[in-house]
Amino acid sequence: MSEKYHNNFLDYTLSNKYLLVKLKVMRYTLKQFQEQYPDDDACLEAVFQDRFKNMKCCPGCGVVDAKFYRVKKRQCYACEWCSYQLFPLANTIFRKTEVPLTLWFYAIYEFSVSKNGVSAKELERKLGVSYKTAWRMAKQIRLLMGVEVGQLTGDVEVDETYIGGKHSQRYERSKKQTVFGMVERDGFVKAKHVRSSGARVLLPEIADGIKAGTQIYSDEWPAYKTLARRDYSHTTVNHSQLEYVRGTAYTNTIEGFWSQLKRSLDGTYHAVSPKYLQFYLAEFVFRYNFRAITVGPVLLEMALKPVGLTP
Ligand SMILES: [Zn+2]
Repeated sequence: MSEKYHNNFLDYTLSNKYLLVKLKVMRYTLKQFQEQYPDDDACLEAVFQDRFKNMKCCPGCGVVDAKFYRVKKRQCYACEWCSYQLFPLANTIFRKTEVPLTLWFYAIYEFSVSKNGVSAKELERKLGVSYKTAWRMAKQIRLLMGVEVGQLTGDVEVDETYIGGKHSQRYERSKKQTVFGMVERDGFVKAKHVRSSGARVLLPEIADGIKAGTQIYSDEWPAYKTLARRDYSHTTVNHSQLEYVRGTAYTNTIEGFWSQLKRSLDGTYHAVSPKYLQFYLAEFVFRYNFRAITVGPVLLEMALKPVGLTP
């Protein structure tokens, strides 16, 4: 399987060392954000520019370098020669929206500066929109954050964890959701809501998510038993004998990710419906994977681009 990034912009960003360094040292304050996107027109213009800046000629009349002017009171631009219309918001997360673009952009900014996530309740309060609208916006922004990174390599820790339900009540146990995680030490993480923690579920996830030949660390969960026979080096940590760290044999990285995830889910989101758990995971994975850079401008620039088919 080849290395793949599903998002061209991030692919570009990650491969462009200069941009990464720049994003790392750059601060992106609320003031800078407001100067960049002062009103709805500026937001629409940003989407338009991003989308059509490389267009050589008008799709309607074919005139090279035709100018497009903004159509008054509509979210579109028209060709100066043939009036052909371009709709920059089509297929973006802002399509068919009645919410002003400035509020959308501000919501994205909030997601980018938050450490623990942004709840719909909080968006409702800050943006002055209905709860339903805030919830939909949050969902779209989380979709945007669902960036797939390529196969993991190097030293990779794997672990499964359980989310939701009450620990003490036996009948609640069945309501717990299984999440499987894989993390490169000093690198990227992947986390997926899976239907069980059995070998038949986890091994295909590993085959898909981790490059063959990689050194994998895990606890002694039976599902991982056959890893060494499957193109991987495998070292286990024996938690039952309180052997949490033995040289490089530890799973502290993934456990650190779980505890941050659970703290945030408890503090910000309280109860997450299993149906939407993957969206929340995507949000935290994004924050973790891009922890070294200033994500505000990255996330905003990603939002300008058309997205695939979204539910
Ligand atoms: Zn034209």
